[in-house]
Amino acid sequence: MAKNTRLSTDQIERYSRQILVPDLGGKSQIHLMQSRVLIIGAGGLGSPAALYLAAAGIGTVGIVDPDSVELSNLQRQILHATRDIGRAKTESAAEKLHELNPDVEVETYPVRFESSNAAEIAAGYDFIVDGSDNFETKFLVNDVAIGLGIAFSHGGIVRLQGQTMTVLPRKTACYRCLFDMPPPPEEILNCQQSGVLGAVAGTIGTIQATEAIKYVAGLEDGLLTDRLLTYDARLMKFHTVEINRRSQCSGCGQKAALALQDRLSSDRV
Ligand SMILES: [Zn+2]
Repeated sequence: MAKNTRLSTDQIERYSRQILVPDLGGKSQIHLMQSRVLIIGAGGLGSPAALYLAAAGIGTVGIVDPDSVELSNLQRQILHATRDIGRAKTESAAEKLHELNPDVEVETYPVRFESSNAAEIAAGYDFIVDGSDNFETKFLVNDVAIGLGIAFSHGGIVRLQGQTMTVLPRKTACYRCLFDMPPPPEEILNCQQSGVLGAVAGTIGTIQATEAIKYVAGLEDGLLTDRLLTYDARLMKFHTVEINRRSQCSGCGQKAALALQDRLSSDRV
């Protein structure tokens, strides 16, 4: 790829504070500028993730979201402003990211991420940040990312709590190694019904952006893999729980690949 193999004077200045970081440097900056990161949801998690990824100079940021901006989103979805109410979230997001960093290409998908389009949208991205707000999408992101071999960050928030983990397909534990199936609907707490503090979404979304940057910069050894990080903002406690990859996992185990192929091809008909 001939694109972005050298840093311009402006780029050296813009990214100087991260180029100075010994684990990153100029070479990693070029890797960031050549990389493609897909964000599912321009909401509470996707907003801080997208802003930090664009600020860091990720070459292409993809954003999937079918919704329009509502007044009740603004308490946590910091990509959007009061003037954006009624606009498509993807359009509002693209505008903000270009204002922050005109170098970044933003690819927008104003559609629901579902089994009929997921593989087509995700193909060609280097990393996925899952900022979705429902279990159906979280399991789909897991299965599609594993099917296509794309590393991703899972994130979830509710009330004053958050959790996140990073998955390297077929190398580390996946979301289904942790939770085999979505919970029954009556057990599900979501932001709409249960509430969430915006700053909690900011913390988890920012960790997800950090993981994406580390991955594309080649800092794989310190990723949040085979571990679930939980955050309790009420007690201000972080815990890490070890997660083992299961050989019989329905997401990443031996029988999972064929089942996924069947499911995606039958959904596409
Ligand atoms: Zn698994």
